Amino acid sequence: SLSDRLESVFKKLRGHGRLDESNIQDGLREVRLALLEADVNFKVVKDFVEKVKARALGQDVLGSLTPGQQVIKIVHEELIELLGGENCALNLSGKPPYVIMMSGLQGSGKTTSAAKLALFLRRQKYAPYLVPADVYRPAAIDQLTKLGAELGVPVYPSTVDMNPVDICVDAMRDAELKGCSVILIDTAGRLHIDELLMQELVGIKEKCRPQEILFVADAMTGQDAVTVAEKFNEVLDITGVVLTKMDGDARGGAALSIKSITGKPLKFVGMGERLSELEVFHPDRIASRILGMGDVLTLIEKAQSTIDSKEAEALEKKFRKAEFDLEDFRTQMRRIKKLGSLEGIMKLIPGMGQIRKQLQDVQMPEKELGKVEAMISSMTMAERHEPKIINPSRKQRIAKGSGVTVTEVNQLLKNFEQMQKMMKKMAGGKMPSMPQGGRM
Ligand code: GDP
Ligand code: MG
Repeated sequence: SLSDRLESVFKKLRGHGRLDESNIQDGLREVRLALLEADVNFKVVKDFVEKVKARALGQDVLGSLTPGQQVIKIVHEELIELLGGENCALNLSGKPPYVIMMSGLQGSGKTTSAAKLALFLRRQKYAPYLVPADVYRPAAIDQLTKLGAELGVPVYPSTVDMNPVDICVDAMRDAELKGCSVILIDTAGRLHIDELLMQELVGIKEKCRPQEILFVADAMTGQDAVTVAEKFNEVLDITGVVLTKMDGDARGGAALSIKSITGKPLKFVGMGERLSELEVFHPDRIASRILGMGDVLTLIEKAQSTIDSKEAEALEKKFRKAEFDLEDFRTQMRRIKKLGSLEGIMKLIPGMGQIRKQLQDVQMPEKELGKVEAMISSMTMAERHEPKIINPSRKQRIAKGSGVTVTEVNQLLKNFEQMQKMMKKMAGGKMPSMPQGGRM
């Protein structure tokens, strides 16, 4: 997968104490392939890699202590830039009611997203109103009507024999009468771009003058979504994009291409079928996703400021020998509390990216960390070094001392045991060594 590929680029780049131009070229070749595989348009990739190369060669990267990480960071920053830098909010300015028109192919998620937006806007104190203007699929009106009822949002009573443009015009009158401030028009889609449909959308646009024409794209369709977005933009001059089904396997390459090719901002991301599963689009999150790195980059930055190389080396040795005990855990936890989790701590150690999935089971929520610290503090040094000796009466003492239940003490010990098991597995020789001159 892309994530693995970049992980290996990352490692390869990190493996060099110093980078030279040809190292960077090699690394960027991998990045290029990875982006193409993530379904990013080839023109976009070409420009992108050129930009990154210029920056990577021009900056202090070559002489820096962590050249590989610098390159990855530049890639990440440039991705964010390509994705628009910052979130672009809905443009709801001027006099209400505002009109938002949903457009896109059939099955892309228009109807769902219209309802999701209604919920989103209501939470922002707008009074939404839903308009089913897809009269071709018999179930489409019903679908939006049900979603509206679920939300308690008024829905225009469209019927299949009505003309979509007439529906919208009459719905605007009705919405105003009901004192609604945002009108969400759900339009029909086709399986392919269709001239008649396009003309109908143009008709709605002319009559309703929407503030926002959102193109809804299914992230899973990759490159195809880009071609379709281009066409919709040509005809409708869209104002933004909603990228749906990002809860699936899609890596988000389409997001990058749509933004660069249409020049229109992504505004929202669909993260599931439920109505609450709509997120405001954050370029940095999608950039990380495309890189397949989660929030590794932020962690790198945080880690660099909180942990020095000697400590990292000492920690790594302990991990390697599976000697990392509860006392070490507490020390690290105190120091890097900002990182928030066991996962965060383990990410500081080279080669840990691979087991991130496994770690998710061991992860603890941030608010639990205070409790954990209290529990470990209530243990004797002997107990911290060798948790095995913690018998039931010791558990009771620890629970009392830290103001938690015995169950919570048990949970901590179980989590820690799991982590130690993992350490033992890695101590079996699979863990890569610290790079020469590398900081982490
Ligand atoms: P439309 O034809 O464009 O109106 O698409 P629909 O809104 O009817 O959505 C088509 C299918 O995609 C439905 O089964 C939705 O539940 C599903 N869907 C829409 N958005 C998302 C999303 O963000 N994530 C997931 N997993 N499914 C979605
Ligand atoms: Mg629909």
